[in-house]
Amino acid sequence: MSTQEPALIQPVTIPRAEHNISRANISENALKVLYRLKNAGYEAYLVGGGVRDLLLGREPKDFDVATSARPEQVEEQFRNCRLIGRRFRLAHVRFGDEIIEVATFRASGAPDNSEEALLAHGETGRILRDNIYGSVAEDAERRDFSVNALYYDIRDFSVQDFVGGLPDLKDGVLRLIGDPKLRYREDPVRMLRAVRFAVKLGFKLHPATEAPIVRLGPLLADIPPARMFEEILKLFMYGFGEQAFEALRHHGLFAQLFPRTEAALAVEEQGFPQTFIAKALANTDSRVQQDLPVTPAFLFAALLWEPVRRMARELEAQGVHPSDALRRASDEIVSEQVQRVALPRRFSTPMTEIFQMQPRFGQRNGKRPQRLLTHPRFRAAYDFLVLRAQAGEAEQELADWWTELQAGNPDAPQPSSSAPRRRRRRRRGGGGGGGGSGAGQEPA
Ligand code: ATP
Ligand code: MG
Repeated sequence: MSTQEPALIQPVTIPRAEHNISRANISENALKVLYRLKNAGYEAYLVGGGVRDLLLGREPKDFDVATSARPEQVEEQFRNCRLIGRRFRLAHVRFGDEIIEVATFRASGAPDNSEEALLAHGETGRILRDNIYGSVAEDAERRDFSVNALYYDIRDFSVQDFVGGLPDLKDGVLRLIGDPKLRYREDPVRMLRAVRFAVKLGFKLHPATEAPIVRLGPLLADIPPARMFEEILKLFMYGFGEQAFEALRHHGLFAQLFPRTEAALAVEEQGFPQTFIAKALANTDSRVQQDLPVTPAFLFAALLWEPVRRMARELEAQGVHPSDALRRASDEIVSEQVQRVALPRRFSTPMTEIFQMQPRFGQRNGKRPQRLLTHPRFRAAYDFLVLRAQAGEAEQELADWWTELQAGNPDAPQPSSSAPRRRRRRRRGGGGGGGGSGAGQEPA
């Protein structure tokens, strides 16, 4: 069983009686798509995370379909269908909020996401090929991990395994299909996906899948920042961010995503930045688990705070006024950071406000505190202060003072630590998308 061999072509078929995937657990819309394609004479399978998660007894995030029908043929079958992607076309079949992604079998080619971006660039062995349609067996081989290449066949409800995905699933092993070095060069984002799935599923990376990551990590520098932003959200906003952070650092990938932050972590003084980021991520994780809103503004604030704070301190030492120093430092760190990972303005603006408000918490005289309480970003900034205090970077006494001020002030927002309830949501309408107001993430 060599790990380098590109797969057996004979599938192992697991009949319905021998696996646990029930149609009752598959989205009705995905079933509609599968049956419609089958009835029109095409092959149609459920594939990817949906099959993997159902086999593991987990609830899938979404359902992907693979079919022998060409994109135009898929389009003919559905009124609610849109073809996306210019060179590699996928069909999106929409049912209200739910989109079922339908991909035609491909012999070899780009990943499902951002082929455009991949095709547009393309040095160093990255995929540049055009559409090459193929059989289901070929489709299996161009997928990333063996556990992501299991096919649920709507004809007889069996599961088909072309690449040894089932034994890996049983053993809790994440194994890249084919030669890992090659597969990472084709699409370096697979390194981030490896870490994400390992953490999310509690799987081990197969040694051959793990080994090249440390050396190939720098290839991530070529990935378009917008795609990186999407990947960062998948790593940090789905309830396992703290572990993802540790794992990314372990594999040397965090430095590729947040180089300035990694540099600050490397010279950390009293363990503060490490603790701070871990606590911020743990806070986000627990909010996700409680179905409370979370926002990238708070996440990025936590991830970038240490380099911003350091640069501001240096500027102050050069005689720059403290509030200017913080502003300049955050502008500079952000403009550097967005070359790696995009950060849409609707998140960078509130993030910067969270930064700017930190020194204002120190001003406790006169009317200033009352004014600060009414700031639309107060809540997120206060939650941020609490985290800083927990990590030992800000005074606990200061955080407590603000907690008490709010408790004694009927108009103030409830501190999230003492108020799991969410009353009076969003009085000041709008707010930048994605729960852009608080972050500590609670609507102000
Ligand atoms: P999730 O639970 O995050 O949705 P997923 O496995 O479904 O996990 P998707 O990003 O939705 O991941 O992709 C669906 C499937 O498409 C994957 O399971 C995999 O088979 C294939 N795929 C996605 N991205 C890539 C890639 N970069 N390279 C190769 N195959 C990929
Ligand atoms: Mg998916």
